[in-house]
Amino acid sequence: MWAKNGPERYRGRFAPSPSGLLHFGSLLAALGSWADARHHQGEWWVRIEDLDPPRVQAGAAAAILRTLECFGLHWDGVVWYQSQRQQAYHQAIEQLREAGLLYPCRCSRRKLRETGQQGRKGVIYSGRCRQRPATATTPPAALRVVTESTPIGFCDRRHGSIEQVLEREVGDFVLRRADGLFAYQLAVVVDDAAQGITHIVRGSDLLFSTPRQIYLQRLLGLATPEYLHLPLVYGGDGRKLSKQEQAHPVDLENPLLTLRAAWQRLGQIAPGPEVTEVAQFTAFAARHWVAQRVPIVETRG
Ligand code: GLU
Repeated sequence: MWAKNGPERYRGRFAPSPSGLLHFGSLLAALGSWADARHHQGEWWVRIEDLDPPRVQAGAAAAILRTLECFGLHWDGVVWYQSQRQQAYHQAIEQLREAGLLYPCRCSRRKLRETGQQGRKGVIYSGRCRQRPATATTPPAALRVVTESTPIGFCDRRHGSIEQVLEREVGDFVLRRADGLFAYQLAVVVDDAAQGITHIVRGSDLLFSTPRQIYLQRLLGLATPEYLHLPLVYGGDGRKLSKQEQAHPVDLENPLLTLRAAWQRLGQIAPGPEVTEVAQFTAFAARHWVAQRVPIVETRG
């Protein structure tokens, strides 16, 4: 259990990608991470994950921040933008390269499909370029990190013990794409450490990514935060709500109604009818949050 009076103060974060407006699923993640942080008298930071310019929607970052404010989810410190963090990602790449843990890969998508096996979430990289470091300089290469057959385990605060053998279940994964963009897995690890994040509360779609992130933390000599993965919200078509697929943005007209609905999905005890304003709701939420009540919903996909 987290000791409030320990030497290290709780610091949480919400890290939306500005590929669209906040929908109900991302509001749920924001509310859960906010409430967990505030319940532990911790800080809550916001980081805009605008790593991938073609996916960034103009105006989305500002709209996300306005939405958080409208829902009473106020943050600490300044908002970080990953687009301004390239130097830090570059340094992490250099550190791993010097340790001999990276290699260039020029496999096309087609080659990846032909040589890899289908895994739970996409193709498992066969390690084809690991043995044969490319001498060519074109086309531009992606950089992959060497994975291991030793299982990476961690204890999610809700899902319990999780273990993954990266080499077998994921394969050597990309840290810098051939087009020069840094991968989410690298950036998230570098930034969580640079921001001193102690607790990560986010959607269960990232449960499968967590062992990769812990592996990178170990390679880079960084601390591993605590993890809590929240239930996902599915649309009528049975697919996870996603900003990129234009899931309905949350309605700013009646934030209290949406907050109540998100709180219920998080398995929390509802505030009574005397709570009629957003500020009353958030005060209630910070006081009454119980992480153990969060339902464990099977993640699809
Ligand atoms: N940027 C990611 C997303 O919007 C979340 C990253 C994280 O919480 O680690 O899905």
